[in-house]
Amino acid sequence: MKQFDIAIVGGGHAGIEAAYIASQFDFNIALITMPGIPLGSAPCNPSVGGVGKGQVVRELDALGGLMGILADKAGIQFRTLNDSKGFAVQSSRVQIDKELYAEWAEKVIASIPNITVIREKLVTANKEGEDFLLNTTERSYRTKKLIMTVGTFLNGKLHTGSEQSVGGRLECESSGGLTDIFGQIKTTPARFKTGTPPRLDIDSIDYSKLEEQPSDSAVRNFHCLHEPFNRAAKQVSCYLARTNEVTMQTIRDNKEKSPMFNGQIKGVGARYCPSIEDKAFRYPEKHTHHVFIEPEGLNLRTMYPSGISSSLPKEVQEQFVRSISGLENAKILVHGYAVEYDVVDTTDLKITLEHQTVPNLYFAGQVNGTSGYEEAAGQGFIAGVNAALELRGLDSLILSRHESYIGVMIEDLTSNTRDEPYRLFTARSENRLFIREDNTLIRMAPYRAQLCLKHAIDDYQRDFLAQYQQLMEFCDSQMIPETSPVLSRFNGSEANQVLNRRMSVTEVLKQAWLNPIDTLQEILSLHGLNLSYDLIRAVAISKKYDGYIKRSEGQYEKVKKLDGMKLDWEKLVDSRNISFECKQRIGRIRPQTFGQLKLIEGIRPATLAVVAAKAF
Ligand SMILES: Cc1cc2nc3c(=O)[nH]c(=O)nc-3n(C[C@H](O)[C@H](O)[C@H](O)COP(=O)(O)OP(=O)(O)OC[C@H]3O[C@@H](n4cnc5c(N)ncnc54)[C@H](O)[C@@H]3O)c2cc1C
Repeated sequence: MKQFDIAIVGGGHAGIEAAYIASQFDFNIALITMPGIPLGSAPCNPSVGGVGKGQVVRELDALGGLMGILADKAGIQFRTLNDSKGFAVQSSRVQIDKELYAEWAEKVIASIPNITVIREKLVTANKEGEDFLLNTTERSYRTKKLIMTVGTFLNGKLHTGSEQSVGGRLECESSGGLTDIFGQIKTTPARFKTGTPPRLDIDSIDYSKLEEQPSDSAVRNFHCLHEPFNRAAKQVSCYLARTNEVTMQTIRDNKEKSPMFNGQIKGVGARYCPSIEDKAFRYPEKHTHHVFIEPEGLNLRTMYPSGISSSLPKEVQEQFVRSISGLENAKILVHGYAVEYDVVDTTDLKITLEHQTVPNLYFAGQVNGTSGYEEAAGQGFIAGVNAALELRGLDSLILSRHESYIGVMIEDLTSNTRDEPYRLFTARSENRLFIREDNTLIRMAPYRAQLCLKHAIDDYQRDFLAQYQQLMEFCDSQMIPETSPVLSRFNGSEANQVLNRRMSVTEVLKQAWLNPIDTLQEILSLHGLNLSYDLIRAVAISKKYDGYIKRSEGQYEKVKKLDGMKLDWEKLVDSRNISFECKQRIGRIRPQTFGQLKLIEGIRPATLAVVAAKAF
């Protein structure tokens, strides 16, 4: 029987990320995944990044993760979302060729000698002494650590109209239930649900009626070692269409045939990723919704109409799709469907994603109630790296929510039982002015350093950090005289759009009417300094927000200290100063830090005051 150090079940976005980072610690790793499903496959919209998610992909990249590398290799249309808003909430989003993405995932994982990919279905997992004994449909394996990333496959059930079948996704068998596998893992009271739209024949669309959105050559690639603006794949356009009154009325007229509204689907769907049925019934007065028509791959015949995921019967899908301008003759090649599945109660997990009562067992990805490839990858990284660090006997990697979106997500997930799918967006963070895409390398550098790994990325980050500090100092110390060509170049036409006195570069970059990146680039070229775009961007935006960030830093330092305070939850449960209800919640969630305690729903301010004052 083969023995592994770490076995990961599921070759989706969480699984490959867990395997990739854990392999960097030289452990013997098994990636067990169902046959017939490529590694890193995209069953829904083939895109990576987006609001809050682009930041996660860059955080993963700076930590030594995989997703950014794959997205750059397979990216066929790049965009910046929220580009009319402030830098803090801007996010990169890349449409990927899903075949190319999966090919690269297969290639990269296959090139790592200490990962064994096992294409078999896991049937049971039991503790045997310190190890887990894994039984697949073919054979048995042993492992010290087990990471479960089984996505939507736990007791998965598919719906299209009244048609129902058992499966994890279209044409894929289900995994069975967690209780079948372990017998003792708690799931959330409600099952979750997600859905996908019909796929349209690329040649059946009238593009002349749609708004074209070409790829933006100014968006930086995700991987910090890739040439920032060189594209690995051919770039193509996406298109914008809109629903109308007929579209929405067709859906409303078929309410009794909708599995989501006739009681057939019991699972709870993602609030922030609604189906077209949700939109029709939640916003009865609204008829116009955006539908982004996006290619699934350079050699694929299907277009993905983002925004109209549906589990209505096939004939109703055809009817409402063809009511949209430009889609009058659209041919549906694959119909939309919904999937319902079981989800782990993540309050049973530690912030390392290890199970609280089954040591050495970790959960990551959609099985933890999240929705999206990036959220899955972020958790896969955390589970994989912490399994490896623990085997090495090193401290766990805990990303602070004040410094990363991955930290925000993990703390949110482990603090409350989820009653609906969880999705990241910038408003989930209290510190979004600081946790931006441009400064990810700076934010993640100390965490990456904690891993004590030595790769090209570590040298790059060390140099980047040193240059960042030098350039920050340059901006503070270098003065720009009024007569500088920089001033005349940037002086605006309005009376208040002039630099009418000598200023430091830092002050210049804070001027509201100046683009800080262009300005810093100009100033540096006048000094004959040729620095990388990434560095200039990170410094320019940091300086722009300097005032706000410094103001909140004082409060943040205090909060961070308090939030990081370690707790002994068993002591809290025994305390006489805490209400019975709060003790019940603490006993259930077992918070490990004050920050986690604070996020538990129903914890009273008085309890927080008692704990903060250590009066227990
Ligand atoms: C129909 C559908 C619609 C979706 N819609 C959206 C959406 O609108 N928005 C959004 O953000 N996300 C959506 N997603 C979710 C997106 O696919 C996931 O967020 C992402 O793929 C999760 O990654 P993961 O690694 O957690 O799981 P997955 O990518 O699902 O990977 C799970 C892996 O586990 C393997 N596996 C499962 N059980 C076993 C077993 N017993 N033995 C061995 N291997 C096993 C499978 O083979 C698979 O490779 C949708 C998914 C589906 C299926």
